[in-house]
Amino acid sequence: MEILSDVHLIDGVTANTYLALGDQITLIDTGTPGKQGNIINYLQKELKSKPKNIKTIVLTHHHMDHTGSLYELKKITNADIAAYKDDIDIISGKKSSSDPIYMRFVSRLMAMFTSYKFIKPDINLEENDIVDNYRVIHTPGHTPGSIALYNSDNGVIFVGDTLTYDGNKVGGPPSFLINDKEALKKSVKKISDLEPNIMLSGHGKPLTENTSEMIREFYKTL
Ligand SMILES: [Zn+2]
Repeated sequence: MEILSDVHLIDGVTANTYLALGDQITLIDTGTPGKQGNIINYLQKELKSKPKNIKTIVLTHHHMDHTGSLYELKKITNADIAAYKDDIDIISGKKSSSDPIYMRFVSRLMAMFTSYKFIKPDINLEENDIVDNYRVIHTPGHTPGSIALYNSDNGVIFVGDTLTYDGNKVGGPPSFLINDKEALKKSVKKISDLEPNIMLSGHGKPLTENTSEMIREFYKTL
């Protein structure tokens, strides 16, 4: 689905996955395990491009519905994998997450019943790093290493699971998926202060109108 000529949402991968087309192609998140086919098909059929043109895969955070097809996509594209330093050891499989026990159980089950394999990211992102015209904004709260990616030229912000839009209003993660409530509040403020035009989240729908007002309204409820 085309959001802008240079920003596409790929349907059918469970957690939203996006392609940002700049000087290179950047893939943002990879969906649940086994979704590499959907992503590569979209790239080839809709964009008439090739897997090797994806130069970077950026992960908004370590959750498996965002990292699920990472291992296969790395093999297919040979792209550099980039993630924020605070989530890297979890993505690499070196450390287990501090998520609630049942979330970790769900992740373990998903890994057992799928072809999930851990893989070490190539790039440790830090605040204000630039990935193909998008600036890295550290937005902890949902996970310690959650990030948003913001481009002031097109006003697009990818927010991962820090914020969602259900077609009606902006919300945050459910309380059991908040790793640090104070950090989340600060992160929402940080996103709100950027006054983005288009908010693209890991779950839910693209928010393309009254975006910064709606994010501000949500911030007031925290
Ligand atoms: Zn998540």
